[in-house]
Amino acid sequence: MLNIGLHPYQPGHREPRADWRDHAACRLADPELFFPVSPGGPSPDQADDGRAARAICATCPVRRECLQFALATRQAHGIWGGMSERERGATASRAALRV
Ligand code: SF4
Repeated sequence: MLNIGLHPYQPGHREPRADWRDHAACRLADPELFFPVSPGGPSPDQADDGRAARAICATCPVRRECLQFALATRQAHGIWGGMSERERGATASRAALRV
């Protein structure tokens, strides 16, 4: 699993830089909306199908950048760019078929 980035809501992302995360609509949101409560807990896919997280993503000015980052870095968990891990996997598979 390649996971080199922090989700925008995570406080640790505040490194000295200016990028798309600084404009993320989820920066002040409850992290549990975007990720499982625990490794064994329900994922957004299982809980509310990520509806609450997706509603925040729908208002986000950097949704495209977020999704591109998640796909490029193969983020395996959570809602990124309004898509669940399953949806991102399907998107990546379709993109691979077009190559
Ligand atoms: S698209 Fe969603 S997960 Fe990505 S930065 Fe915006 S609110 Fe956060």
